Amino acid sequence: MDKPTLDITFEISLSKKMMSIDQFPSRLLEDAVNEFARLPGIGRKTALRLVLHLLRQETDEVRRFSNTIIQLKENILYCKSCNNISDSEICNICSNPARDQETICVVENIRDVMAIENTHQYRGIYHVLGAIISPMDGIGPEDLKFNILEKKIKNQQVTELILALSTTMEGDTTNFYLYKKFNEFTIKITTLARGVSIGDELEYADEVTLGRSIINRTPFQNSFSL
Ligand SMILES: [Zn+2]
Repeated sequence: MDKPTLDITFEISLSKKMMSIDQFPSRLLEDAVNEFARLPGIGRKTALRLVLHLLRQETDEVRRFSNTIIQLKENILYCKSCNNISDSEICNICSNPARDQETICVVENIRDVMAIENTHQYRGIYHVLGAIISPMDGIGPEDLKFNILEKKIKNQQVTELILALSTTMEGDTTNFYLYKKFNEFTIKITTLARGVSIGDELEYADEVTLGRSIINRTPFQNSFSL
């Protein structure tokens, strides 16, 4: 029972001594903190707390932790049909015969797929762009991944395209770009209902609101002719 007390004392004295967290008693500790601090949203103090937490774990637990990350990076696949993250060449959604393969919901990233799936209101499939047009960040139309989508549309495998990008300027620009690109084909192009506030990012919208905005989707041209 003495050990945790010692650890806590060590942590407190460490953080008091190093308010700027730039003087480490160990090079190994510093390297680990530097790696954690490179993650988004993790400051150096949080990084130190996480590293000290791992240090208290059994070696096997830490090994499992790091192996999981390596396995993820080395073995993850991107669905050849929709670009969603997958454990196989074609993801669970695209390979599900119960899903409507001709209705495609275009989203920016995998988190958006997860948010829409959580609503249990959508039975079509997805297309993950991987980015949205953002001139400020140097991201242009050529950075969007939509070759497979374009091929499906040209091969008349699509009846409805739902543009479900965030309601930011970048999202709107990308929606409009895709609309202009695919409007010449005989497909229905819709977008999420905006009467309800879905917030800037799909992943932060609550399930009921997001579900409702999918069910009540509107023709895309109505969204900019107002
Ligand atoms: Zn897929």
